Amino acid sequence: MTTGDKAGEYILGTVLGVGTVGTVFRAVHQKSGEAVAIKVLLPQVQKDEDIKARFYREIEILERLSHPNIVEFKGTGRDGDNIYYLMELVEGGTLKDILKKKIRLEWQDAIEVGWQVCSALQHLHNNGVIHRDLKPANLFISDDGKVKLGDFGIALDVAASGLTDAGLTVGTYMYMSPEQIRGEGTIGPETDLYAFGCLLHEMLTGRPPFEGENFARIFDQHLTATAPPVTIYYPSIPDELGDIVEKLLAKSPEDRPFNARAVQGMLAEVLIEWDERQSDSDLKIKKRKTPDIWAVEPNRKPILADLVRQSREPEYTGVTWKRVAIAGGVTVALLVLGVLASRKPGTGEDRPTTAEAAPADTE
Ligand code: ADP
Ligand code: MG
Repeated sequence: MTTGDKAGEYILGTVLGVGTVGTVFRAVHQKSGEAVAIKVLLPQVQKDEDIKARFYREIEILERLSHPNIVEFKGTGRDGDNIYYLMELVEGGTLKDILKKKIRLEWQDAIEVGWQVCSALQHLHNNGVIHRDLKPANLFISDDGKVKLGDFGIALDVAASGLTDAGLTVGTYMYMSPEQIRGEGTIGPETDLYAFGCLLHEMLTGRPPFEGENFARIFDQHLTATAPPVTIYYPSIPDELGDIVEKLLAKSPEDRPFNARAVQGMLAEVLIEWDERQSDSDLKIKKRKTPDIWAVEPNRKPILADLVRQSREPEYTGVTWKRVAIAGGVTVALLVLGVLASRKPGTGEDRPTTAEAAPADTE
């Protein structure tokens, strides 16, 4: 299938990305004009039953997830030998594009992006899914400033997979955790948290925690080396944020934070404490000028700063405001995300959706 071809009711447009197993096209519905993204399995791998099975699993996983920070599934179909699925079109490019342009993010913006990524991670972990390939190229940015986690191509469905798969070292992970590299032990939510630590490190400093000429060198460091603290590169980064990165990068899964939601709370606390310290200056969050990341696309809005601000204003009580603000911020976020998360994804053209089975989520 190629540009100009039909996929069900949709006409394929420009290519958005080409990966190892599939091509992603922009596509438009013939009648309604609705624009979507369509991922089509590459013709040269369609005879490979393993790859096909994995593609189906990618579809099944995406189908049962429903969260504002995860790319929305919109159905699947086939055209002769071509298998494809439809998803929400995210027009703002990827975090990789942004990092390429900007090199690094202001730490406040890194927290905003990270907070959204953690929200997505908590949802998929609650649903028994480990992403295993968290990286800037798989984080799509929407025009309204939302971060959407995509590409569940090598995601692990904990309930459906056998032990061999759980221990298997697959793919070319950019942020591979020690347990993934060793191919031993259980791959669990902590594996994604390690990758998230690498992501945070890269957003904050412009470089991943470990670099080297080849995979062996990088893997070796993931197994044994201590990453340079982010505050060495940029002393303006709060120490507490540096500590979070360090905890996420713990070699042993049990030494990492308890779960993604806990990380969200830690990130929010850094931002809130910083804001408190700025209380008499122009840098206060509510007065802060549009952060750089959102300035790349002027229409984007800083989501977390808004949430924090909303939660603080009515709750300000002086003595205990910090606790109240944190609790308020998290509650507002949970309510908003909970409502959005309970929306069901659309139904496919040729295949019944099983989205009804998706449990209502509360983050
Ligand atoms: P792969 O497994 O080949 O990496 P991805 O799902 O990551 O497949 O898609 C490849 C690229 O296509 C992404 O990096 C992104 O640039 C683009 N892309 C994928 N899905 C979407 C989408 N829903 N909206 C916009 N662009 C997308
Ligand atoms: Mg990808």
